[in-house]
Amino acid sequence: MHSISSVAIVGGTHGNELTGIHLVNNLANDNYSLPDSLDYRFLIANPDAVATNTRFIDVDLNRQFALDNLTYQEHSLYELNLAQIINRKIGPKDNPHTDLVIDIHNTTSNMGPTLIVLESSDFYRNMSGYLKQQMPSCNILVEDEVSYLEHPYLCTCGKYGVMLELGAQPQGVSRADVYAQSVEMVQHILKFVELHNQQETPEFKGFEAYRLLDVVQFPLSKEEKLLGLIHPALQDQDFKPLKPGQPMFSLFDGSTVEYEGEGTVYPHFINEAAYKASAVAFATADKFIW
Ligand SMILES: [Zn+2]
Repeated sequence: MHSISSVAIVGGTHGNELTGIHLVNNLANDNYSLPDSLDYRFLIANPDAVATNTRFIDVDLNRQFALDNLTYQEHSLYELNLAQIINRKIGPKDNPHTDLVIDIHNTTSNMGPTLIVLESSDFYRNMSGYLKQQMPSCNILVEDEVSYLEHPYLCTCGKYGVMLELGAQPQGVSRADVYAQSVEMVQHILKFVELHNQQETPEFKGFEAYRLLDVVQFPLSKEEKLLGLIHPALQDQDFKPLKPGQPMFSLFDGSTVEYEGEGTVYPHFINEAAYKASAVAFATADKFIW
């Protein structure tokens, strides 16, 4: 097992997700005590987007960290250049000098505090098990449909990388309860890293986790006009079971669209504001014991 010595804690990857911005600024001002066996770097990833309180200036920064994008060249799009700068600071992705990147996000969906890991190796399982043990309200979401390096996310600049999603919180708004959850999550993760380095990670029995399956689009007409909304019975029910035959969309013509999949799934990112442009209504997951 590699030990972890350098940790980058990142906020403001999306400029209108305020929890991570507050947390990174407060960490940089020494407002919290952190394990002193680790080296920290605190980074506001997209300061221009933060200044304008928008998700991004030109394109979504958190989709620009595919390896191919990071070979140095001048781009006309702000975030493509920014991704290269961040990659040089905390990566580079193909040979990182940062051991762990923790990238803090908010969601407008009712997902509670969620840890997203991009690989199902022992390190991430142990981190997830520790977090779940210390903070049972956390959801663990595994997105390992492609390899770690194939993901385009900022956190993959580190040797290890995770994302925190905290919600529901509207874009451009900061809630104290959500902020407190982010502080608690980061502290537990850093404590886990310390235990990992000391080879004192406890053994974890199986715990509940979710694995990303798919995304479901809003119902659209041939002209790509929106035909309806998330059904009230599904709204805010992130990580709750959705069974075949249960309502999914409430259409403007008064009818209901039911979920017609083969088995039970666990929707999340339900009605996420940032996914409106791509007409994504929610993502689905499988629940498993990890
Ligand atoms: Zn985000």
